[in-house]
Amino acid sequence: MQDQPAKEHAPVLKRVMLKISGEALMGPQGFGLHPPTVERIAREVQSVHSMGVEVCMVIGGGNIFRGLQGSAQGMERTTADYMGMLATVMNALGMQGALESLGLHTRVISAIPMDQVCEPYIRRRAVRHLEKKRIVIFAAGTGNPYFTTDTAATLRASEMSCQAIFKGTKVDGVYDKDPIKYPDAKRYETVTYDEVLSKHLGVMDASAIALARENRLPIIVFSLDAPGGFRSILAGEGTSTRVEG
Ligand code: UDP
Repeated sequence: MQDQPAKEHAPVLKRVMLKISGEALMGPQGFGLHPPTVERIAREVQSVHSMGVEVCMVIGGGNIFRGLQGSAQGMERTTADYMGMLATVMNALGMQGALESLGLHTRVISAIPMDQVCEPYIRRRAVRHLEKKRIVIFAAGTGNPYFTTDTAATLRASEMSCQAIFKGTKVDGVYDKDPIKYPDAKRYETVTYDEVLSKHLGVMDASAIALARENRLPIIVFSLDAPGGFRSILAGEGTSTRVEG
C-alpha cells in the first residue's frame, strides 16, 4: 500500500480575534504608525491566516489619541472618546494597507458609519466576509464613548462566534506584578476571569473581562514582539497566559 501524503495538521481553532493596542503599531517611535512595524504584524497575521484560521482584528488607538488623556486636559470626555475612536479607524486603515500589500483580502468595518472610508458594521455581512476568508478589522471600537477597544474586541469576538481572543502585548503573558520592573515577577499559565478582576491584573478593563466571562470566551495573552509568536501560540507552542473560567 502506498504511503499517504503527510497532511497538514488542521488548526485547532477555526475563527479567532486578535486584539492589539495602538501602541503596538508605534514601533520605536513615540507616536503614530511605524510602517515596518505595521508590516511585521501584518506578516504575523498572514502566517496564521495561511493555516486556514479565520481572523478578526481590533486595533486600539492609544498611539494617536486616548479619550481619558484628552479629558484630563480639559476636553469633554465624550468628544475625547470620539476622537479616540477615530484614531482606531486610522490604525485599521494602516493595517488594511499592510495586509493587502501582502496579497490578503481584508475589510475594515466601522462601528461609526463612514461610507466613503469603510463598511458600516452589519453582523451578518461581517460573518460572510470571514467565511470568504477575508480578514476583518473592526474599527471605531464599540461606537460608544466610555468604552475601550478591549471591550470592542470582546463584543465583536462574541458576535462573530470567535473561539478565543488573542491579546498581543509586549510581554508573554499575565504576571503577578510588572515583569519589566520586577525581575522576580511570576507568569500565570492560566488565570480565571475572577482572579483577573479581584487581583487587578490589568489584562483588559473590567467590562471586557466581565463580557468574556459571561460568554465563556478565553483570552490568550502572548507577546507580539516574538517573531512567529502568533502562529506558534495558535499551534499550542510558546509561552502565554490563558484567561478562562
Ligand atoms: N474608545 C471609545 N469607545 C470604544 C473604544 C474606544 O470611546 O468603544 C476611545 C477611548 O477614548 C479610548 C480610545 O478610543 O481611549 C482608544 O482606544 P483604546 O484606549 O482602547 O486603545 P489602546 O489602548 O488599545 O491603544
